[in-house]
Amino acid sequence: PISTRHLTTTSGDYDTSNPPEVRKYLRTYGMVPPAVESHEQQMQRCLNILALKSSNIEKWQYLTQLRATNVHLFYRLLAQNVKQITPLIYTPTVGEACQRWSELYTQPEGLYLSYSDRGHLYSILQNWPHNVDITVLTDGSRILGLGDLGVGGMGIPVGKLALYTACAGIRPEGTLPLCLDLGTNNKALREDPLYMGSRREKVSPQEEKEFLDELMAALTERWPGIVIQFEDFKNPFPALERYKDTYTMFNDDVQGTGSVITAGIISAVKLAGIPVRDHKAIFLGAGSAGVGVAKQIVEFFIKEGLTEDEARRKFWFVDSQGLVTNDRGGRLAEHKVYFSRDDNEGRQITSLEELIDYVKPTILMGLSTIGGAFNAEILQRMAQLNDRPIIFPLSNPSSKSECTFEEAVKHTDGRCLFASGSPFPTLEHAGKSLTPGQGNNMYVFPGIGLGAILSKAVSVTQDMIYASAVGLATSLNESETQQGWLYPDIRRIREVSVSVTRHVIRAAQDGGVDRELAIRHLDDAQLDQYIKERMYDPFREGEKIQDEVNQLFA
Ligand code: NAP
Ligand code: MN
Repeated sequence: PISTRHLTTTSGDYDTSNPPEVRKYLRTYGMVPPAVESHEQQMQRCLNILALKSSNIEKWQYLTQLRATNVHLFYRLLAQNVKQITPLIYTPTVGEACQRWSELYTQPEGLYLSYSDRGHLYSILQNWPHNVDITVLTDGSRILGLGDLGVGGMGIPVGKLALYTACAGIRPEGTLPLCLDLGTNNKALREDPLYMGSRREKVSPQEEKEFLDELMAALTERWPGIVIQFEDFKNPFPALERYKDTYTMFNDDVQGTGSVITAGIISAVKLAGIPVRDHKAIFLGAGSAGVGVAKQIVEFFIKEGLTEDEARRKFWFVDSQGLVTNDRGGRLAEHKVYFSRDDNEGRQITSLEELIDYVKPTILMGLSTIGGAFNAEILQRMAQLNDRPIIFPLSNPSSKSECTFEEAVKHTDGRCLFASGSPFPTLEHAGKSLTPGQGNNMYVFPGIGLGAILSKAVSVTQDMIYASAVGLATSLNESETQQGWLYPDIRRIREVSVSVTRHVIRAAQDGGVDRELAIRHLDDAQLDQYIKERMYDPFREGEKIQDEVNQLFA
């Protein structure tokens, strides 16, 4: 028989906010201290305990334990304190947790599937005792910017799924963290006596592909309709290309990032006050992130009336060799070809300053991993060229950011439209308080996931990803727009997720990939209501058990 209880989803039976009759009904009466606590009291204790911990990794450990013992309290705490708690359960703290996974391991929190399990993946999935709506899976090969961490990568699916639940209300027991143990190229890990994964080198791309083929089929057979999110793969493109049309899957590193940055650009272009047609973008960095982001902005330009070719030619890419052009010699990496220039008339431009003078861009994006690359001169030049220069230094962590918010404000006289990858504090400038935007994927991936689940989408189309950007860009309220923000207040994330989810569902319906036909006829207000009613609310879980008890004794 399959047990109905599981460590990741302890139901909150021992919740100290349960009144005596509920405790009796659950047969936990006497097993917790007598006081019946309010949610506020419970959360105050948690915050006090967190304050006692001197390091972030200890706070992460405490929060992990809290989720395992009282899942609803964990999510109440997270929902009420998104801004403070997210960095403790996700980046940056989760990075250290992943690096020290085998050292700190205490309890099971997801499924591990090893290469030696191939041929039996479906039967292993049977061990998981819940109905799964969404899984996040990684092979640990490129965890954040920290490299190959083997099974330590499990921290990422665990943390990310907690955000799906907190931000979009996907029920906790419907989430499956999945870690693929396909070997590791991290020699130090393989030799670490405490390492908990297979001590073998990473399997070949061909072996990985065959393993993933079996896994995708097994997941979808075990849980029809499951949404599968890939995360932190060293090379994300082969799996994305192979599965995006046949399974309900997406890759947040590629697609979520593209969406959240596009949303920032949609907001910034609106505020800059120049027609879309007149914008020009320089990208410092032509890696997978830069090119992925630019391709989604191309879509925005096309939706605004440009032809694809016009849109594509609004971009100039700079990599470690300088401006990416057709005639610079050597072979161009395949992903750079689409944006490579053919109109440089033999000029080889190697410095960013020179390129800015040549192109006169309205938008400057940084995805180069080169901290400080947007120096004073460059920022001042952008400010001379533009009334509202759009400056997005997106490299992470903050030490690699192409400039800080303070530098951008100082050298553009406070006129820049700014978003970064890493957080920067709010500033006072000329008597005004200026808030930087942060292009954080958590604005969009929870809504992409929930939209795909609720529409029962057969695949996650590019139109659904693009719609998530529009859903985010249109979710700013009046006061946020007035203050010139590019992204909404993260504390409103559940409302924002409703907007993102609705846009994603609409795109699924328009593309005919939805299977939940009954919600097609709902108008927007009705659809929002439908979404909200299906979101897990950790503050209402107690009421649900109370209702059960009331009915029993009615
Ligand atoms: P990547 O593949 O390593 O790409 C880095 C790019 O920068 C390459 O094109 C590289 O040139 C170029 N580059 C390196 N040194 C340079 C220099 N001195 N001058 C000009 N260009 C230089 O990395 P990625 O995955 O694309 O990620 C890039 C950055 O984006 C990372 O810092 C990451 O944290 C950030 N990012 C942010 C978000 C977000 O904000 N939500 C999401 C994803 C990624 P070559 O091609 O010639 O090597
Ligand atoms: Mn990632």
